[in-house]
Order: sequence, then C-alpha cells, then structure tokens
Amino acid sequence: MSQNRVYIKDLKGHSGNEVVIKGWVDVRRDQGKLIFFDFRDMTGKVQGVILPNATDAHAVGSTTRPEWVVEVHGKVNPRPERNVQADKQNGDIELEILGMKILNEAETPAFDIHADTREVSEEVRLKYRYVDLRGERLQKNIRNRAKIMQYVRNFLTAIDFTEIETPILTKSTPEGARDYVVPSRISSGLFYALPQSPQQYKQMLMSAGMERYFQFAKCMRDEDTRGDRQPEFTQLDMELSFATEEDIMNVTEKLLIEIVEKLYPHKRIQQIPFPRIPYKEAMEKYQIDRPDIREDKEDPNLLAFCWVVDFPFFEKNEKGAGGVGQNGEGGGTSAWTFTHNPFSGTKAEHFDKLMAGNAEDKDLDTIIASQYDIVLNGYEIGGGSVRNHRADALMKVFEIMGYPQETVEKNFAHMLHALRSGTPPHGGIAWGFDRLMMILENEPNIREVIAFPKTGEGRDPMMESPSEISRTQLKELGISVNK
Ligand code: ASP
Repeated sequence: MSQNRVYIKDLKGHSGNEVVIKGWVDVRRDQGKLIFFDFRDMTGKVQGVILPNATDAHAVGSTTRPEWVVEVHGKVNPRPERNVQADKQNGDIELEILGMKILNEAETPAFDIHADTREVSEEVRLKYRYVDLRGERLQKNIRNRAKIMQYVRNFLTAIDFTEIETPILTKSTPEGARDYVVPSRISSGLFYALPQSPQQYKQMLMSAGMERYFQFAKCMRDEDTRGDRQPEFTQLDMELSFATEEDIMNVTEKLLIEIVEKLYPHKRIQQIPFPRIPYKEAMEKYQIDRPDIREDKEDPNLLAFCWVVDFPFFEKNEKGAGGVGQNGEGGGTSAWTFTHNPFSGTKAEHFDKLMAGNAEDKDLDTIIASQYDIVLNGYEIGGGSVRNHRADALMKVFEIMGYPQETVEKNFAHMLHALRSGTPPHGGIAWGFDRLMMILENEPNIREVIAFPKTGEGRDPMMESPSEISRTQLKELGISVNK
C-alpha cells in the first residue's frame, strides 16, 4: 500500500482505478460473506464492500468496529444504475475493498455521533468533545467558522486593515464585568487580568498610527454563563482612525452582507441597508434594546439585521459604584455610570453638554453617545462607538462617574498620556463572533460553534478545569487558598 492517499471527496475522479483512502469506519454492516462499510474522512463519506474472494481484507474487516481508524486499498467501481443514490455524496460509486490495515482501534464511543448530539448530556459531550466534534453538524460548524474568519481576513486586509495581536496577560479593563486574574510569580502579590476585550490596546494602536486594526480576539469575562455567553469568547475586533460612525457602520454592514451572500446564499437578509432604530424607539416599541424585527419568526433562513443607535451616554448607577474597578477599589461613587464604554464619545452636538456636566445634574441621561449596536434576530451581535479622543473629555467622564482625579490619573495614565500625545479621532466596533456563527448555523447556543466550549458552570469536563494546582506552585506564587 505505497500509493498516495486519495481524499474521499475525490474518489469520483478515480473511477475504475485502485486507490488508497485513510479515515474512520463510520458504519459497518457485516452480512457474513459480504461486509459493507461507510468510511469517513474530513472530506466526506463513501460506501465500501468486501467481497468473499478478498480473504485477507475480509479477515481484517470482520474485526473492525465503528470509529476504528483504517487504511483501505480498493477499486473505485461505478454503482449499477439501480443502486445509484443521486442525492448522496459518492452515491454513484462504491469502493471494492481489496486490502485493509488497522491504524488504530477505538473504544465504543460514549454516544452515537450520527444522532443529534444536542440531545446528549452536555457533561458527556464536552468530556468527549473530540468524539463529539467528529459528527457531521459540528464538523460543518467549525469548518464554516474558519471559512468566515478567512473571508473576514481577506475582506479587511484588502481595505488596508492590519491584523494585530494584543496581550492576553494584561490589566483590569473597565468593561463592567468581573476579571479573571493571573497571579504573577516574579512580582509576588501582583496580578495580571485576562482581557475582557482589547479596548484600550486597540485605542493605543490608533495612537500608534496603525489607523486600521482588526483581530479575532479572545475575551474573558467572569460572568454567569448562559446560552449565548461563555467565560471566554471570540470577538471580531476593529478600530479605525479618522473614521465617522457612518464609516464604521458601513464597513460592518458591507462585510456582513458579503458573508451572507457569499457563504450563506440560501439565507435572506430582511432589509438592506440595515434599518437604524434609535434606542428610545426600541425601548418604547419593543421594550428591549436588541429588538427581534423578523417579519416571520418561523423562517430559519431569515436574517433581520438592525442597528440600534442614539444610546444615552450615562445611566443611573444602580450598584452604587461605577463599572470601573469592579473589584471594589477606586470605583466611581456618583449616581451615574456609563451605559456601554467609558471611552465612547458623545454625539458632536452633545459634546458641550458633557464638558459642562457634573454628577449633580439631573439630566445627564439626555447626553447621547456615539454608540451603535448591531442586532441580528434579537441578539446583540456587536457594538462600538466613536471614541473620546480628548484627554480632558475622558477625564470629564470619569469625574461625572465620581472618580477622584488621582485614581483616574493612576489607573488610566497610559490612556490619558496617549490621548495627549497626538491620538487621531478614532472609533471601532467588536462583533460577538460566536453569536453571529450561532445564528448563521441555526444553532440554539454558542457552544455548538465553539470547538472547546465550557459548561454552563464554566467548567471544561475534558481537561477537568478549573483544577487545583500543586502546593509548590501555590508557594512559588505566594498564595494560600481559603476553602
Ligand atoms: N470593546 C467593546 C466591547 O467589548 C466594543 C467596542 O466598543 O469596540 O463591547
């Protein structure tokens, strides 16, 4: 068997020839004299048969079980007319198996990968995720995810965006959620935080003159998990210098439309250009800031995108402390906090009102932010804003939220200094990439479009994480654990 391996999808082109395929036993039907197989590789499936005269192959084939890994030497035969299954991949050919080699055996899988594994307990699916991922649906989801990523890369690169990675070991950012923290060994007692988003870094990149940045960024937020949330998730993150709200929304809109038209042509976008709904109208009409405006909610191929715009900059602070410094230190103490992002700017016509504002004002919620959210079928799939590129304006925002000037100067020194060092006007957006994938793939939750998601309780049953660490590790880090 020294022949080159042929992918199952390419077998058609080898009709009448002897070939070698490698893959998994998908199904085996042993009829005694004849043994039928479905073989599977990453490119698809093909039926094979061992005839009684192929004695060696028969001996090997009769021992195999589903999910065993095999190398098969066979002849590609056209199927007789009456056996052709026109609607099936390779439905017009069959592999006559002449030789078979077992490359690896497999234990009986914990569940049937041919059935809908969404019915299987999540704990079991995630424990054996490598088996779960072999199923057709997840193979499709993960491969389509990669296709979209590639499409996005090509699209953005062609219009002068640069893909730039930003650190994972970073510092608390004021995104409003709890941070995951990582203890430092060298600087004992100090901690990194995992990024809730690359917000500050991408703004630094604008200060750095990169002008157009994007990245598929991992974001970590220590929140309670639900169907469309995971402790770590992926954003398509972008930032653009010298760009208006209109520019950023246009790039997003054009890219989303192309993704659907090129990669999901069977889907229909309800309305182009995407309708824009002011926040106030959304709340009055739909009682929610991410309205599901589908005209037919039964249609799985209908995509109703809309923008929600004109968000108030500030809202009443319900927690009694601002979103910044969620760990209790240095939090804002005023009656106001930001609705989305402390780094957002206001609408141009509201800028003077911000600069004249103070925490005692009763009508600060009338200041409108330059914030836009993109909503699809009732899910928020992205959001962004044109930023505050003036240090005094950023100071003002923190002042209104009740942060002492020293705290801001200390926590955001880098940001303030960058803004004072020639930062161009800029703005951006981040898409919740998993949510978008979930909707495009008609899946009920984002775990179906992530290769290795966590459970509802934020655990990974396969790796058994989170897990304890050794006493030596704790000691090195200068940490003691109170149970
Ligand atoms: N960093 C923001 C977020 O994670 C998105 C943005 O404003 O660009 O929600």
